[in-house]
Amino acid sequence: MSCTLFDSLQLMSKKEYKISVLSGDGIGPEVMAEALRVIDKISTRSDVEFVLDHQLVGGIAIDETSSPLPDETLRSCENSDAILFGSVGGPKWESLPPDSQPERGALLPLRKHFGLFANLRPSICFPSLTNASPIRPDLVEGGFDVLCVRELTGGIYFGEPKEIKEQGGEKVAIDTMVYKESEIERIAAVAFDAAMGRNKHVTSIDKANVLRNGILWRDTVEKVASKYPEVNLEHLYVDNAAMQLIRRPREFDVVLAPNLFGDILSDEMAMIAGSLGMLASSSLGESLGDGLYFGMYEPSGGSAPDIAGQGIANPCAQILSASLMLRYSLGLIESADAIDLAIRKTIDAGYRTGDIFTGEEGTQRVNTTQMGDAILSHL
Ligand code: NAD
Repeated sequence: MSCTLFDSLQLMSKKEYKISVLSGDGIGPEVMAEALRVIDKISTRSDVEFVLDHQLVGGIAIDETSSPLPDETLRSCENSDAILFGSVGGPKWESLPPDSQPERGALLPLRKHFGLFANLRPSICFPSLTNASPIRPDLVEGGFDVLCVRELTGGIYFGEPKEIKEQGGEKVAIDTMVYKESEIERIAAVAFDAAMGRNKHVTSIDKANVLRNGILWRDTVEKVASKYPEVNLEHLYVDNAAMQLIRRPREFDVVLAPNLFGDILSDEMAMIAGSLGMLASSSLGESLGDGLYFGMYEPSGGSAPDIAGQGIANPCAQILSASLMLRYSLGLIESADAIDLAIRKTIDAGYRTGDIFTGEEGTQRVNTTQMGDAILSHL
């Protein structure tokens, strides 16, 4: 098709964003294709242009280059505004040594290289999908939308000493929970920034009744909160939070948690939302100012080898990951809102991939591409 002068002028005035696209293994490329169709539509209807750089990662990268994270892939990510990640791994690579496996060999080095210290996982239960939630219907009626902000690079998973040693004739295991004030400040700022664009409520999780870490966590979060007078702050001990999330999920907005507690609570929140195929995730680095971060965006689920290659995976989590990317790395809030709304409308209109299909009246079972088509038609 030839390009008119008008098209050329429009193209020239478009703001360009570079995105590294790492589709990976299993259902990764299948769901990524739908996410790319969605951002392509955003681009044709707005003054932004997405320059995509497709690179190898995970098992397919091992097969082709012997490395789960080839240098070329890392260079591409360094030169991009954000990383859109699919999923990696599968039975083919499970017998490799742990550090050479797709997940450990690609995801952890990417997080480390880019200092991705903040993990944001929205747990969204759409009003018309509440029957997918294992929670009592009256507790989730109308759905809910909770954002878990988990500290990802500190705390007990990384503190030293970390060892198993002989002591007094028996083995002793030691893990050390360490948090610096600066680490708590920066993750709290992410949570409060996020709350400002949502319902302005942060629930901070700790164990201040037992752990020194909890006392510092609570004091530091209070200090950060003073810079966000519009945001309401609530503190919960982690054991109570685990119960309250099940009892009253609709009352939460942003949940801010240290690494260990966030690891556990974000999985609980994914479970109460109902479907893995609907849940997106992002890992963010240092703030770039104006509420923007460099980040990596991916579905919460894995490569789903049991359904890979059949064209039936749910593309919503990947598309919602792209929406998070527009929101947190590119500052394209209206476009992100438009994508989120299109998915909500598609679900409301009854379109269901196999993972969320229950045979309910007014719904129809669709495959990956048909779900993508329906979302595009609602965008
Ligand atoms: P999984 O998330 O891949 O699958 C769990 C279940 O959820 C499966 O039944 C799967 O079919 C279903 N599922 C997941 N996403 C779906 C979607 N979009 N649509 C429909 N159904 C969906 O977890 P697993 O089976 O434990 O792991 C499979 C592989 O993925 C392993 O190799 C694991 O290491 C890897 N993995 C990768 C990541 C990542 O890339 N970030 C995360 C988790 C697991």
